[in-house]
Amino acid sequence: MKDQFAREISYMRVSVTDRCNLRCVYCMPEEGVPCVSHSDILSYDEITRVCRIGSGLGIRKIKLTGGEPLVRRGLPGLVRMIKSLPDIDEVTLTTNGILLKSQLDDLVAAGLDAVNISMDTLDPEEYGRITRTGTVQDVLDGLEAALSCGKLKVKINCVPLQNIPAETYVRLAMLAKDRPLDVRFIEMMPIGLGSRFRGRSSGELMALLEDRFGKAEPDSAKHGNGPAVYCSFPEFSGKIGLISAMTHQFCGTCNRVRLTSEGMLKLCLQYQTGVDIRALLRSGADDDRIRETMRRAVYEKPACHHFERAGSAAETIREAETRDMSQIGG
Ligand code: SAM
Ligand code: SF4
Repeated sequence: MKDQFAREISYMRVSVTDRCNLRCVYCMPEEGVPCVSHSDILSYDEITRVCRIGSGLGIRKIKLTGGEPLVRRGLPGLVRMIKSLPDIDEVTLTTNGILLKSQLDDLVAAGLDAVNISMDTLDPEEYGRITRTGTVQDVLDGLEAALSCGKLKVKINCVPLQNIPAETYVRLAMLAKDRPLDVRFIEMMPIGLGSRFRGRSSGELMALLEDRFGKAEPDSAKHGNGPAVYCSFPEFSGKIGLISAMTHQFCGTCNRVRLTSEGMLKLCLQYQTGVDIRALLRSGADDDRIRETMRRAVYEKPACHHFERAGSAAETIREAETRDMSQIGG
């Protein structure tokens, strides 16, 4: 399925819940988080139907996300349902890792292909401050389980912050030295609470890592479905990835759309606009009508984000996203 700018859209990020068992400072408020009621959230049957219809339009890869996807009961069942769709090649998961160990066997048995684990520091105290409620050892247990099952591609995602010492990111990068995993650093985007924090740029991260580990070699092998640029350091078994949403816009090759937990098909992270698929699903629309609605919406996908303008007095973006990442499905 191509959009108006001839970009091939083959990847859908599906948020299964807006709820989370953590409260990362740049993603969710500490208290008073408005929760979408269960009846407003798409059921697993509804999500699978949208994935099936999307696969008829060229969607090949599904990423399950949230909120925290593993807090929704029975997630391995959804993995199994989507994996059984003939035209879906890959089902992957983005998680904070807290509940990963306990669900890992079921996820793997259901056919999960890969897992991205978000972990912004290895230091227990820093982790507690960033996530407000989390214990980093739970994530490390989930990580070890994911690596030792031998069936999953594993990546670590980190959003580096200015107010956290640089050494934290050197230590995180070193996970890729001895283990078969990639560590990715994501630039903070000014979405929801994220706009109140100063992230570290990819350039800054790279200078820091090269200073410590020597010259990085660019790595052109394909590592996933997204915009990360990878490199390798001498004696590292895994790669380091940089996702530079702020300093290197990659919208020209964007291949994705998002389905929120409430069934809104969102076309760009920065815009609130989208199409209400839930309304169609629940009004008895047939597959052809839903497919046509999705096709038309995807065609209209915006050319690019304008994060550089977000929050500035000169902001001119119509319908800019105001919700937090956990509500959109990051
Ligand atoms: N709860 C899961 C997790 O943490 O992986 C999935 C959802 S979370 C919203 C997905 C990713 O978005 C996490 O890696 C998180 O760090 C990242 N994220 C949240 N807010 C962000 C922001 N403003 N800019 C960049 N990344 C952000
Ligand atoms: Fe939850 Fe993920 Fe947001 Fe942290 S980043 S609050 S784990 S949804």
